[in-house]
Amino acid sequence: MRPTIETPSETPAALAVWDFAGLLLTYWCNARCAFCYVNSGPEWRAHVAPETVLAWWRGLDELAAAYGRTMRVHLSGGEPFRDWISLISLIRAARDAGLTPVDKLETNAFWAEDEGLTRARLELLAALGVQRLVVSTDVFHQEYVPIERVRRCVEVARRVFGPGRVIVRWWDFLRDPMVPLPDRPSRAAAYRAALARHKDRLTGRAAETLAPLLPGRPAAAFAGLNCAAETLQSRHVHIDPYGNIFPGTCAGIVLAQADNRRIPTIWQDLATNWPRHPILADLVAGGSYALLQRAKNLGYVERPTGYASKCHLCADVRRFLFRKGHGGEALGPAECYA
Ligand code: SF4
Repeated sequence: MRPTIETPSETPAALAVWDFAGLLLTYWCNARCAFCYVNSGPEWRAHVAPETVLAWWRGLDELAAAYGRTMRVHLSGGEPFRDWISLISLIRAARDAGLTPVDKLETNAFWAEDEGLTRARLELLAALGVQRLVVSTDVFHQEYVPIERVRRCVEVARRVFGPGRVIVRWWDFLRDPMVPLPDRPSRAAAYRAALARHKDRLTGRAAETLAPLLPGRPAAAFAGLNCAAETLQSRHVHIDPYGNIFPGTCAGIVLAQADNRRIPTIWQDLATNWPRHPILADLVAGGSYALLQRAKNLGYVERPTGYASKCHLCADVRRFLFRKGHGGEALGPAECYA
């Protein structure tokens, strides 16, 4: 039976129906990429039970179906191949439960150590209905993952899935890898060149490692740039291992908690009550510049070197609020602000 959900008003300030959802299975990653927007790394251990993930997946399916849509679920992290047995068990259980198939599975290919293992894993994923494989490679990943493994994974995946179902971010870095980077200046130059080729949001670790490599502007330059489109009106969300529901591109901003309520109920609650969400309300009204005003009242001091983008400003202000204990339930988890 379809859940009963009120249709949201069509005003610009309405919460979008989520129909593109990433399940972040872990913050663990073999790598510690300079640009990682969720701050993943080898030190993180959070684990989420498969039954919990399946309940979120089912609820996401129900939400989209209630609006005549089909949910597209992607599995990501961190690195979802950290625990192969758990990953494949989850995908099999979702298939057996009749949930929507995995639209995309994301990996950096660190595990593709030899042809036989790579082919066996990819054939099983394809047999279980995974629609597309996304392989991440760029100067940041290439510092941690040997390019031979990435090439092996992509070549085998194109044979198993078919070329149209394998996405590489980014092909130019696969053709023309940028590592090794012998020293600090060449690393900075390579990072700058990579950012010029493919724009990335300067949040998470990127706010600390990459933003300082770019020209800074005063915070006032970002006044008036609201974030309604990226937050409230985005159809794309992520759910992390703790059940934090983030806007798809803004990890660390907790729209709501996926607790023991069903996802359609959580969505409905947020659709009704988002103006009382302190961080979200600021971002919808005035973007990171509005958030800055809140933080200044709590002691935040603007960086004299300025900010590379509105998202750099946002990430810096949010880190301050989180570390000073002013984020409440709206900012987290600690991994995102480490
Ligand atoms: S400024 Fe913040 S809320 Fe706005 S798009 Fe960037 S990270 Fe997201």
